[in-house]
Amino acid sequence: MPGPRKAIEVRDFPEPALEPGAILLETIASEVCGTDVHLHHGRLAGVPYPIIPGHVSVGRIAALRDVTHDALGAPLTEGDVVTFYDVHGTCGKCWYCLVGRQPNRCPERRVYGITFSADDGLLGGWAERIYLKPGVLTVKIPEGLTADDVIGGGCGLFTGFAAVERADVPMGATVLVQGAGPVGLAAAAFAGLRGAAAVIVIGAPEARLELARRFGADEVLLFESTSPHERDAAVRGLTGGRGVDVAIEATGNADAVPEGLRLLRDGGTYVIAGHYTDVGPVNLNAHTDVNRKHAQIRGQWGTDFTHVVRALALFARHRAHLPFRDVIGGRYGLSDAGRALADVEALRVPKAVIVPNGPAE
Ligand SMILES: [Zn+2]
Ligand SMILES: [Zn+2]
Repeated sequence: MPGPRKAIEVRDFPEPALEPGAILLETIASEVCGTDVHLHHGRLAGVPYPIIPGHVSVGRIAALRDVTHDALGAPLTEGDVVTFYDVHGTCGKCWYCLVGRQPNRCPERRVYGITFSADDGLLGGWAERIYLKPGVLTVKIPEGLTADDVIGGGCGLFTGFAAVERADVPMGATVLVQGAGPVGLAAAAFAGLRGAAAVIVIGAPEARLELARRFGADEVLLFESTSPHERDAAVRGLTGGRGVDVAIEATGNADAVPEGLRLLRDGGTYVIAGHYTDVGPVNLNAHTDVNRKHAQIRGQWGTDFTHVVRALALFARHRAHLPFRDVIGGRYGLSDAGRALADVEALRVPKAVIVPNGPAE
């Protein structure tokens, strides 16, 4: 991705020499996430274009140097299939790392496929090989999961998991998820696993709501064919007129926030997880929507390694009920990466994946 709004190019890079502690992956699949669409529109700050996009990826170890185990202590060898935590470089020395205990706000934090430049090497997943720097946290794909499962879940799997945990969903709660993209689908699934009594999903298009049902949504509301008033009436009808205990925003649409707060019961919890880019301010009524409502509002910025590990573990146990592999709507070769981005942007596929070494569809 040479720069905002510029066509995706296929470029040749030299085969990297491995420094001690590094791993070279042969890419099996890398995700095309909504963030990549935002990157292509130039909507994220601090992106060192040109970049090799692709932050969540699965690959087979082609070579490794002085590495014997993954981040969880499992032995690693050539041929093993792994994924890795896309965040790297968190310093462990700054105020946010040490005192605030919010490493996701560490100024040294870099993300594969987003804040590493292609000038610095194969540091993104839309490439035949991915260079894992020393210290990148790799994880073997858990027993029972396939590469398709993991990439079908992608970063939405981890973000949805983190959002549900951030919401502290009480057992038996009614949970509303706004948005039926990869984050919303994962949030709906994990809300159910967490012990929600009912999960309601508002989203679009219809095909994604069908997926939401497969991920455990009890009620779905098609956004584009309902008015705010109708959605309000439907949610109140399902909650004794009170509104939901927890709402999770996974739309990236600013108007979802006041609506979600209005659908929340008094004393409920609202988590904003879909605003990874700045789409501008919203109008809130601080009295009715927050203060008198006694609402808790929380943001979820990115994910930590703990979310990756525990989301995969839970996914492995409940794989039969979590058809993330079926979220993959298209597989694209490197030369079709531009088309993959366009298809994700136009919502033609719930999720696109890049398969740099084939087989593409
Ligand atoms: Zn992503
Ligand atoms: Zn730090």
